[in-house]
Amino acid sequence: MLASILRARLLCLIACPLALVALQSIPQPAAARTPTRLPPFHSEIQSLPTPLQTGLARRLWHPGCPTPLSQLRLLTVSYVGFDRQAHRGELVVNADAARPLQSVFDRLYQQGFRIREMHPLDSAGDDTASFECRDAVASPCPGTPPTHSWSEHAYGEAVDINPIENPYTGCGRTRVGPSIPYLNRSHHRPGMVNSVVVGAFASVGWGWGGSWFGTKDYMHFSANGH
Ligand SMILES: [Zn+2]
Repeated sequence: MLASILRARLLCLIACPLALVALQSIPQPAAARTPTRLPPFHSEIQSLPTPLQTGLARRLWHPGCPTPLSQLRLLTVSYVGFDRQAHRGELVVNADAARPLQSVFDRLYQQGFRIREMHPLDSAGDDTASFECRDAVASPCPGTPPTHSWSEHAYGEAVDINPIENPYTGCGRTRVGPSIPYLNRSHHRPGMVNSVVVGAFASVGWGWGGSWFGTKDYMHFSANGH
């Protein structure tokens, strides 16, 4: 009996560290690798400042849009950048979406999910963004006709997370060259939407474009799931 206990302990001395190494080699959620010494999450909701209204009216909003500027809010949130440091981001969202999104971005921050950029007027293509008064974009499948219907972004009730890392795709295609490596969703890299992100949006009732049938919009979350 004593001999078998000693043998088991000896085996553990050899095997247990190996098991620990094996466990550590399994990819961990981003949160586990992110420094915990981030400042507390900060968030604010305010009416659109005049310069932002002017900028929106020049580029992303026009008369005839389904949502008046007065219905939109500037949502400021803390986020974790690709440098794993805390940053201050801004989104323009519908007044109805502002509080739920505060809660979503709080969760993403606590989990250390990395976000590349968050500027309400940037159009560089890699920004996490919300409001834009435009039609829904047609699927990248060849021959798909224009939608001629408002995008949920035109209501300020949709958010696109890290568009390069989370492409809009159909028929195995994307219109954005830098997104091509990210069509492979089984190879997980920083900034790609994962179960933490989907869960954060689901907690306020928002749906994910990555769950659509056929065409998938991996960056896209919206209040009504469209
Ligand atoms: Zn979108």
